[in-house]
Amino acid sequence: MGTMLIGYDVEWRGARGDGDVTERFLDRVQELHNRLGIPATLFILGQTLERCPQAFQPLVDDPLFDLQQHTYSHQLLKTVYIEDGGRVQVIRGADLDTIRWEVHLTNDLLRDLLGVECIGLTGPWCYYRGLRDRPDILQVLWEEGIRFTRTDGRNEHDYHPVPLDLQPYWYEHVGFPEMLELTIHGWHDCVLRDSLGWQDLDGYVESVKPYIGRAASENKLFSYVQHDWSSIQEDPEMKATEALLRYAQERQLTFMSCREYYELACSMREHREATTSVLRREASR
Ligand SMILES: [Zn+2]
Repeated sequence: MGTMLIGYDVEWRGARGDGDVTERFLDRVQELHNRLGIPATLFILGQTLERCPQAFQPLVDDPLFDLQQHTYSHQLLKTVYIEDGGRVQVIRGADLDTIRWEVHLTNDLLRDLLGVECIGLTGPWCYYRGLRDRPDILQVLWEEGIRFTRTDGRNEHDYHPVPLDLQPYWYEHVGFPEMLELTIHGWHDCVLRDSLGWQDLDGYVESVKPYIGRAASENKLFSYVQHDWSSIQEDPEMKATEALLRYAQERQLTFMSCREYYELACSMREHREATTSVLRREASR
């Protein structure tokens, strides 16, 4: 069967530019997901929310939409050392105090402006191995109320694609057994579309379909990222996104929001722990 999570990073207003790109995206994504009956998660940049809070209001009461965060000003949690085959690009991660401030402020904004209690975060740019090597960052996120992350979204070259074999995991080995990493598979949509040419919507759809096909045939999770600005660039009606979502429906993938997936993972873990303790009790009799 397989499962698909689609999470959109909503960041144009503030991180990248002005104009009504974010507002147009929000209108379109809500219409599209309601027409298809598919849930989605928005990972919202604090700055973007601050600049157009009214644009997010219709999504607050929409049961198909889960609202989480993407830091306040798009500061990287961890340094990336990107080797794309041609050149090396290094962008430094923020220090722990900055990370705490960014996450705390964005949680406050989500609560104060929209009444949303945030528990999930997509790390700007994403990183190889997520936060498995950074228990110090996980500690800050945990203290700020974050319970699931999408930070593992680059391969060993800090580039793309990320194989579907990388499935969600708990950060238990670094001391956070109740913090879930959801990963991001394949290519980030903007990198893929830029490399194909923004007009090549068919090429984009065909490049993503194999992940959906494999998730269906191997009963895996396909966790995917798009962005507000890239989702409507050269595609104002989001026809490429619609084609991907319809293909996943045809392949009978189950759709969930990231929060729903996290809650399901928690209940499965509790069930497993309960079963294990019963078995232990039985064995010790
Ligand atoms: Zn981003």
